[in-house]
Amino acid sequence: MMTSAEIRQLFMDFFRNKGHEIVPSAPIVVKNDPTLLFTNAGMNQFKDYFLGNKKAPFPRVADTQKCLRVSGKHNDLEEVGVDTYHHTMFEMLGNWSFGDYFKKEAIAWSWELLTEVYKIPKDRLYVTYFQGDATENLAKDEEAFNEWSKFVAPDRILPGNKKDNFWEMGDTGPCGPCSEIHVDCRTDEERKQQSGAELVNNDHPQVIEIWNNVFMQFNRIWNNEKGGLKAFTEWQEKNKGEEAKELRGKKITELTKLESLPAKHVDTGMGFERLVRVLQGKQSNYDSDVFTGTLAVIEQITNKKYDPKATPGTIADWHQAVAFRVLADHIRAISFTIADGQLPSSTGAGYVIRRILRRAVRYYYTYLDYKQPLLHQLVPVLATQFKTVFPELQQQQDFVAKVIKEEEESFLRTLEKGLKKIDEIIASTKNKTINGSAAFELYDTYGFPIDLTRLIARENNLEVDEKGFDAEMQQQKDRARAATAISAEDWVVLSENGSTSFVGYDHTQAETKVV
Ligand code: ATP
Ligand code: MG
Ligand code: MG
Ligand code: MG
Repeated sequence: MMTSAEIRQLFMDFFRNKGHEIVPSAPIVVKNDPTLLFTNAGMNQFKDYFLGNKKAPFPRVADTQKCLRVSGKHNDLEEVGVDTYHHTMFEMLGNWSFGDYFKKEAIAWSWELLTEVYKIPKDRLYVTYFQGDATENLAKDEEAFNEWSKFVAPDRILPGNKKDNFWEMGDTGPCGPCSEIHVDCRTDEERKQQSGAELVNNDHPQVIEIWNNVFMQFNRIWNNEKGGLKAFTEWQEKNKGEEAKELRGKKITELTKLESLPAKHVDTGMGFERLVRVLQGKQSNYDSDVFTGTLAVIEQITNKKYDPKATPGTIADWHQAVAFRVLADHIRAISFTIADGQLPSSTGAGYVIRRILRRAVRYYYTYLDYKQPLLHQLVPVLATQFKTVFPELQQQQDFVAKVIKEEEESFLRTLEKGLKKIDEIIASTKNKTINGSAAFELYDTYGFPIDLTRLIARENNLEVDEKGFDAEMQQQKDRARAATAISAEDWVVLSENGSTSFVGYDHTQAETKVV
């Protein structure tokens, strides 16, 4: 069986042989782009090349990029641990052409790599192409269809809609039609009974998307004739909560327009953990060697067993299995973002990390019955595992573990009381909704991020009044602004050799304040 390290290496070797320069991953934390907190795809660091603002130093590059999808357009947080193939932090393998090769080569090479180098059986693969979209006057991608037809039987080439086959980095920015590759990992018997074609893009845990080839042709910009960003911001202030989330995409389409990019580019992204799971013949990413080391350490620490086969049918076993997966996943997000200079804090990107961390703490506290700081104990296994790919973690291992431990201690101080409080709130809740002021009290007094309250509410078949929560939050902000102006500096500056120097991390804040 190939190890994950070998699988990653084969990807780099393949594209190096096709004339690509192998470049390092950009930091997972984005420091100079107001539209993006974290890297959510391999292409982010190349945005300026696509837009024509800068000239690419190489026409072809490949790499593995640390990505995080927990906020903004790509937010997978609620899937993580519940399913077995969406992570918060994951590696995206990618190859790029900056105005160089286009669909013909990209498609031929991805097929060659998967079927000849990795030897995935052809009858397990499906590919997709963009079917076009009338609202934005976008044409069907005939070219991609024709290129795939050279290798793939017609019943395995599937049309896809804008949601699945038109890739966009964020609300605005470079975008284009895409063509994806999906693998059917079901048993022979299951494959005989139902065609995998029906299960592509259908949330089937064994028929999964592994690779996306994006053909960058457009830039989405705000349409000022229709009010643009200003109109959107106003709309957003008025519309919050779940319904607004669903309308958001439509609103953006309405208030933006597509302009053609100066040149055409290829941008591909393959989920490394999914690829490894496929090649190692596993049914879940967590059964691959990317995660088994971490899961084994969690088993040792908690004296509990991870059962990959647990189902929601037996709720206690299910919660325990989800907790294992959540911890093995979240520790990666937390460790790599801290190693890249983002400390947990009470605002912005730092608060996103604090939210993930608190979510993980509540999972081990409640479902693994472990009441001490746990996450920081997982840093060494990750640091060793990634020492050659992402050496920044091993170089700062003690520092990262220390920050995590302090955060855990701080939240554990109020967690038990907070959990009691939410039980009381749930017991007295009428009309299936936790009201905004209760959610705000959990946040303000017990340090419960809103998504943690939402998670616990859902486990009890309740909703949270998020509009009400936002209103309470706004009132508190107004009060704080009136009282004093505080600066929340939470960056760490990394020096050239990767060692760290503190810039304004306020320890008293981490220790005494929980929000
Ligand atoms: P999905 O439909 O499964 O959510 P996606 O279409 O959102 O994936 P892309 O934006 O096309 O994903 O990203 C390229 C590749 O990155 C995907 O084909 C997949 O293999 C991988 N990927 C995307 N999101 C995740 C995630 N949350 N965890 C692990 N891998 C991911
Ligand atoms: Mg997705
Ligand atoms: Mg998809
Ligand atoms: Mg995709």
